[in-house]
Amino acid sequence: MKINIAKVMIGEEEKKSVLGVLESGMLAQGAWVKRFEGEFASFNGSSYAAACCNGTAALDIALKAIGIKEGDEVIVPDFTFIASANAIRFQGAKPVFADVRPDTFNIDPKDLEKKLTKKTKAIMPVHLYGQAADMKGLQKISEGAGIPIIEDACQAHGASWNGKKVGGFGTMGAFSFYPTKNMTTGEGGLVTTENAGLDAKIRMLRDQGQKEKYVHTELGYNLRMTDIAASIGVGQLERLEANNKKRRENAAVLTAGIKKIKGLTPPFVAEGNEHVYHQYVIRVEDDFALGRDELMKKLAEKSIGSAVHYPIPVHRQPYYQGLGYKDVKCPVSADLAGRVLSLPVHPGLAREELDYIVAALKEASP
Ligand SMILES: *Cc1c(COP(=O)(O)O)cnc(C)c1O
Repeated sequence: MKINIAKVMIGEEEKKSVLGVLESGMLAQGAWVKRFEGEFASFNGSSYAAACCNGTAALDIALKAIGIKEGDEVIVPDFTFIASANAIRFQGAKPVFADVRPDTFNIDPKDLEKKLTKKTKAIMPVHLYGQAADMKGLQKISEGAGIPIIEDACQAHGASWNGKKVGGFGTMGAFSFYPTKNMTTGEGGLVTTENAGLDAKIRMLRDQGQKEKYVHTELGYNLRMTDIAASIGVGQLERLEANNKKRRENAAVLTAGIKKIKGLTPPFVAEGNEHVYHQYVIRVEDDFALGRDELMKKLAEKSIGSAVHYPIPVHRQPYYQGLGYKDVKCPVSADLAGRVLSLPVHPGLAREELDYIVAALKEASP
């Protein structure tokens, strides 16, 4: 048995529609992108959705659209994929790192509040691993201080809190369709919003700042999605909810087994949250028989893929160290980097494979 940490699942529908696009000769942003945007907006309960070439670009133009610029500060969790923070740097602004909660792994509103300054111009929560951040706490701060929220929903397609989907809480939400995410377009991204003006701005920024054909009113990029990618996205979106459900079922099997193993803590789901398990992440506690990296090796010996998301807190990355982020206080983030472990949870897993993973974990804890 060999179990991979992720599996890209492309359906017959996507294969057919990609061929159709190729045969049509209309490959660039066109009718399929428009259709994909419409279907994603309707799935997400968002008024507007604008596609682009990847999730990093989606975050980048969302921040640009609300006017983030040099001298501004944007608060972002220290425990995330580096793209969240880099998007802030692309605008010349300063990422300010807030700590995360040890249970949900998401940004801690209490620490965020301490890091607000007069220069704070946006808050960027990340719905890490597929679970919504504490939107109640964050919205309270956002409303109180009059600071917009830009959601990094790149790992949380379809995740919700109190029945409302992520990407719909902030001024804008950014999604990624990288192959290992819960749905893919090969590479791709998308920005959701309720604001028509911001949607129009995003559409200009992704396409050379064009207001109308060959009339350019802004310094825009070329960040368009292709119709090839969008045609994959349409098929993927149709299966997203079924796949998310399967991920939750797989997670429930893993959790039932892991709960009984001393020293391993299964994921915690906060009240009101529907988790979509982009990653199924356990904590390897100090009283477990092995350290996290040793446990990974044991699993690898049994051909079980696992991964660490993420081994280095963002502010400790060489790039940010070079910028002088020396005494950032995010102790939970630093602790988690040494103890989190992502186990396979993808919808392609069979029951026997899940049982095999739990058995391997049990065996590793004498
Ligand atoms: C994947 C991801 C991104 C970036 O998306 P890309 O499509 O790879 O550019 C940003 N933030 C988080 C949290 C991600 O997981």
